Amino acid sequence: MNRLAGKVAVITGGNSGIGLATAKRFQAEGAKVAIAGRSKQTLDEAVKTIGNGVVAVQADVSKLADVDKLYAEVSRRLGKIDILFVNAGIAKFAPLADTSESLYDEQFDTNIKGAYFTVQKALPFLNDGASIILNTSVADSTGNAGTSAYSSTKAALRSLARTAAAELAARGIRVNAVAPGPIATPIFGRTGLPKETIDQWASELVAKVPMKRFGQPEEVAGAVAFLASQDASYITGVEINVDGGVGQL
Ligand code: NDP
Repeated sequence: MNRLAGKVAVITGGNSGIGLATAKRFQAEGAKVAIAGRSKQTLDEAVKTIGNGVVAVQADVSKLADVDKLYAEVSRRLGKIDILFVNAGIAKFAPLADTSESLYDEQFDTNIKGAYFTVQKALPFLNDGASIILNTSVADSTGNAGTSAYSSTKAALRSLARTAAAELAARGIRVNAVAPGPIATPIFGRTGLPKETIDQWASELVAKVPMKRFGQPEEVAGAVAFLASQDASYITGVEINVDGGVGQL
């Protein structure tokens, strides 16, 4: 399929997991792709694995000056943007009673403040008719103990998909979300929790999934590519679950 031929796509967190798989998928469908992330090392690795002239910009989305830098660089190298995948995010888990201010701030700064301004600051750089996709989570509408701060950020992001869709419809810009269930990416190793705790938690999580397995990042990328494409031309404000049924069944 070449549904994204000639389109310019930006992916935050394109150097790992779901973002990396989506960068590859967008390129395979004909788009010119720019990725952003904080780690120079994983950005360099991603440039090698994605190839085909992908543009990498080191940027921390929680810092507004970095978001400005990202769009200035994309504009200079690729021109106006047709597809924006707001994907950068972190997950740090703790019970409500034990959630520190720093754990709360870190997640809100990245997952919602970062995402919010990634959308806002993109506006002058987006073509009319563009597609924005936000990466939420099944956690935005479920009640998994120990995830209160993370889930709150994702619920806020789900809300942003609706209000941004309402505001941007006049420009023909569609705004949608994908809500992954448990997807096999490096995010679990980055939670700061011991490996045994994560392994235990992951097996409990998968037991709740009707399809009884983790999803793969490529399976989320497929849904993102659909929302980015003209196949989704009359779809805005929705959230598509990519979760083996755990959010619905
Ligand atoms: P990864 O940890 O593999 O990827 C996260 C990406 O976000 C990395 O590329 C990371 O790059 C980037 N990132 C994190 N913080 C920042 C920041 N402040 N500025 C710029 N980039 C940042 O995890 P996933 O691929 O799993 O996660 C992608 C998204 O999917 C997240 O929003 C996550 O919440 C969501 N999601 C994931 C699920 C899963 O089970 N995997 C389930 C539901 C939702 P770097 O570290 O270099 O900054």
